[in-house]
Amino acid sequence: MIKPTVQIGDKIIRQKAKTVRAVLITKTQKTIKDLIDSMRHYNLVGMAAPQVGENYRIFVSEIRKTTYRKNVTESDSLKVFINPRIVQRSKKQVGGYEGCGSVANAQLFGVVKRSESVVCKALDKNGKPFEVKASGLLARVIQHEIDHLDGVVFLDRVNDMKTLVDVKTYHSSQNR
Ligand SMILES: [Zn+2]
Repeated sequence: MIKPTVQIGDKIIRQKAKTVRAVLITKTQKTIKDLIDSMRHYNLVGMAAPQVGENYRIFVSEIRKTTYRKNVTESDSLKVFINPRIVQRSKKQVGGYEGCGSVANAQLFGVVKRSESVVCKALDKNGKPFEVKASGLLARVIQHEIDHLDGVVFLDRVNDMKTLVDVKTYHSSQNR
């Protein structure tokens, strides 16, 4: 079910999300389904459970072209991450523009430095452990979404506030 995206200002966005104790129960499976439906509907490449009002350590990703990321050439199939943790990260960091479904009303985009690559361990939607070594946009999305589970939004990590742009400017820079 497509859920309204919780916006910054709501306290759930600033809370530390709870560890998922049971993956196969209806409540967890419904959250996963709602996240997938909502991520796709809102043209996002990742979405975390607190953004649909569920304070649990779950996020989904799907790297593809979207309205906001028209020039994406990378692709990565739908992934569900439950109780994710980054077990390794590159020393090298790269800057890249980010936006957020929870900052969508404010329509701000800004440059955030993130590790270029990460190794992330999590449980999949069946509760089975997996590990993904990610670089590029997927590495960025994993770091952005895990931040959500810790009550952190990308705006907290923008070093240079002068990189902030509105949605129109962001779109036109993407289409150059
Ligand atoms: Zn976000």
